Amino acid sequence: MVTQMNGAEPRIDDDEMERLRGAFRGQLLRPDDPGYEEARRIWNGAIDRRPAVIARCAGVADVRAAVRYGRERDLLTSVRGGGHGVSGTAVCEGGLMIDLSPMRGIRVDPERRTARAQSGVLWGEFDQETQEFGLATTGGIVTHTGIAGLTLGGGIGWLMRRFGTTADNLLSVDVVNADGEFLTASVDENPELFWGMRGAGANFGIVTSFEYRLHPVGPQVLAGPIFFALEDAPEVLRFYRDWAEDAPDELTTILSLRKAPPAPYLPPELHGIPVCAVMTCWSGDIERGLEVLRPLREFGTPLIDLIQPKSYLANQSMLDPGVPHGWHYYWKSCDLPRLSDGMIEDMASHSAAITSGRSYTLVFQLGGALGRVGEDDTAFAHRDARHNVNINAVWTADEHDPAPHVAWTRQFFSSLEPHSPGVYVNFLGDEGEERVRAAYGPAKYERLLALKRRYDPDNFFRLNQNINPN
Ligand SMILES: Cc1cc2nc3c(=O)[nH]c(=O)nc-3n(C[C@H](O)[C@H](O)[C@H](O)COP(=O)(O)OP(=O)(O)OC[C@H]3O[C@@H](n4cnc5c(N)ncnc54)[C@H](O)[C@@H]3O)c2cc1C
Repeated sequence: MVTQMNGAEPRIDDDEMERLRGAFRGQLLRPDDPGYEEARRIWNGAIDRRPAVIARCAGVADVRAAVRYGRERDLLTSVRGGGHGVSGTAVCEGGLMIDLSPMRGIRVDPERRTARAQSGVLWGEFDQETQEFGLATTGGIVTHTGIAGLTLGGGIGWLMRRFGTTADNLLSVDVVNADGEFLTASVDENPELFWGMRGAGANFGIVTSFEYRLHPVGPQVLAGPIFFALEDAPEVLRFYRDWAEDAPDELTTILSLRKAPPAPYLPPELHGIPVCAVMTCWSGDIERGLEVLRPLREFGTPLIDLIQPKSYLANQSMLDPGVPHGWHYYWKSCDLPRLSDGMIEDMASHSAAITSGRSYTLVFQLGGALGRVGEDDTAFAHRDARHNVNINAVWTADEHDPAPHVAWTRQFFSSLEPHSPGVYVNFLGDEGEERVRAAYGPAKYERLLALKRRYDPDNFFRLNQNINPN
């Protein structure tokens, strides 16, 4: 049984562990076991929670056994895919952590242009397998993010304006529901569940594998950042707003407002300088891309232009060094309409007040194919938003006072939020029910509530951006 004495860490006794072990192929870790400390750690070093047991699943049978075990004992249960959720819902205090990270299988079907991947796979692994056949689908912009959480919340990235969100490219999912039953969901099978899985999926079960549609991409793309001084940001952003508005779908851009990182691709004299970078990825014909990008590259006085033909895989890993595991992170994010002059001024002035060389703000350019999918087709919402801004405070464990960094993020966010039509669920922290509602809007939230009441009325899957059925 699970016991908790005098506020001490809950323990699962040996008999109980033996029973679970009999039904389990993967590793089961309690706090004193070798590997426990590493297994409980996730990307955000600010999260420090200690589950009573970590069930490192080797396959679907383990996932079912773990769900039944947690359900029968009414254990607080968390689900870990890639471990990148900023609010740390992948790990729980004192309960059961169902860890999918050992499940790393990927099978690409080059003829049908599809791939099936298990839920512990990371984007870098997925991209490497699909690029072997000259294929890709919309994925995250950092290789060590998990496919699971990202896909289930929607999924935005460098290919989204050409191919839609990651969830738009989902063909089917295998799911273990809150009763430990195994289901498949697709447009033909359990279609309402499949609708919810594409934007609010963490609420309805544990996906054990994903089947994706792939597209010919690369191996070369025309991509990279062009850096301007932050003091030029108001003019650069006004130009960018008008230029990017008519860009073809093959182009996705992301603004980065920060102090230039000490990255090997930047000359040392730029390190630490406040910058406004337009990061680009053109996935179509390179010659045409050079024409499309020409006005941006001829505008103003860039500090450095690093746009060049390079491999899709190299571009996918470009941002990895700036967001390592173990640093401490706090995010505030919202969707935005067309950038007004006032919003641009706010972005420039708050970026000038940044409190850390590690912190940064990203502004994703939405639209294109993502914006043309019907608003009711998936749970992923706000398809008419033009941008998504994600303001990230970053500090390290030895900086004892995160308060100034967090305050900077909140103030910056407060200036933009009044203009916002909603928020992208995967960029939410631990912000409460109202913000989860804002991620879907009232009508979709009601539809999701009905689905939750059907598939998980007891809210067993509640450590997530929760659709609370009670
Ligand atoms: C460095 C970084 C870069 C990012 N870049 C992007 C980006 O480019 N585009 C984008 O859209 N998002 C991006 N994100 C946000 C990302 O989509 C979310 O953090 C997402 O939750 C990550 O998924 P994960 O599996 O790694 O996370 P986890 O923390 O493992 O999972 C988050 C939650 O998802 C649920 N979950 C996980 N796996 C499953 C499963 N198999 N079945 C059911 N529920 C599950 C659980 O509730 C879990 O608590 C980024 C995040 C980080 C930290």
